Amino acid sequence: MNRRDFLHTAALGSAASYYTGAPLCVPPTAHPAARMTLSFRPFTLELKHAFGVSVNTRTSTPIVLTTIQYGKLKGYGEASMPPYLGETQESVMKFLSKVNLSRYDNPLELETILADIDALEPGNNAAKASIDIALHDLAGKIMGQPLYNIWGLDRTKTPYTVFTIGIDTPEVVRKKVLEVDPRFKLLKIKLGRDNDREIIRAVRSVSDKPLVTDANQGWKDKERALDTIHFLKENGAVLIEQPLPKEMVDDNAWITERSPIPVIADESIKRLSDLIAMKGVYHGVNLKLMKTTGLREAHKMITVARAFGMKVMIGCMTETSCGITAAAHLTPLVDWADLDGALLSKNDVFRGITFSDGKIILPTAPGIGAVPR
Ligand code: MG
Repeated sequence: MNRRDFLHTAALGSAASYYTGAPLCVPPTAHPAARMTLSFRPFTLELKHAFGVSVNTRTSTPIVLTTIQYGKLKGYGEASMPPYLGETQESVMKFLSKVNLSRYDNPLELETILADIDALEPGNNAAKASIDIALHDLAGKIMGQPLYNIWGLDRTKTPYTVFTIGIDTPEVVRKKVLEVDPRFKLLKIKLGRDNDREIIRAVRSVSDKPLVTDANQGWKDKERALDTIHFLKENGAVLIEQPLPKEMVDDNAWITERSPIPVIADESIKRLSDLIAMKGVYHGVNLKLMKTTGLREAHKMITVARAFGMKVMIGCMTETSCGITAAAHLTPLVDWADLDGALLSKNDVFRGITFSDGKIILPTAPGIGAVPR
């Protein structure tokens, strides 16, 4: 140890010797007797266009908005429930009514609080995310720092978001692509019904932007899927999400071994345990807070995915700018972001993330930085 390191270590040692067991950081903005209280309400997010993926088409998404009040501070969160994931406003509110946050003295003990909530019942991933997001927002407000600072991330290293085009007839797809703000650098094209090549040709007739493609488990045959992936690569696709149903593990792995572009898991990987179970099956993973149970597990999954040498994308459901801005704070760590969800809705009740030529701009306010409109 050189002299400088020794002095540094010695200084740390003497500082530590003053520590008497009292909390080093008391949440400064609340009365010592303050307690967290959770409230929630249902909300319907209306979409600008009918949104089609391989399994369904819809015009709205059920949401539950959460607030955690602590003294004068409020942390905001949400659960978004696209129907194919199996949660509903009723199931989320039933779960949330079992959560008692008033028993915790310190709202910054997120590991303990979120582990307790996770243990209440299996599943309920979106319901759990709605608490995780609000707690992270509150923690940032208590500390007076935006989440990217708390995680030690550089807010200028955010990626460009993709802009998503749902499945439709080739004519409508062409029209939707023409309507996209030209400043977005990447398009995400939903595939997986029976008109994949017509859709790609329709897109290519009006745009030469790189394409993120997503079959949403819509393909059933690995040889045909691989053929289509070669066609997509020739037409400027940079990746393919979830080519086959999640149950077809060996066939998805077969495609990954041969694909000329990265194969990214979405429906196959919800939580950390799935990521570990699917090691080697995909080149990468698309993380969404409504699958991962929120920011805390998503952050851990990024670390594990990187240790496995995997690519990482952060996506979203159709959510308000609350959930989407929360996810955006993790984007300095990832390869791709699919965070256009709030742009697809017409009654967003939060202001948060913005874009500059399609690049994600994080708000600088403490916590998530999403503000009710
Ligand atoms: Mg997907």
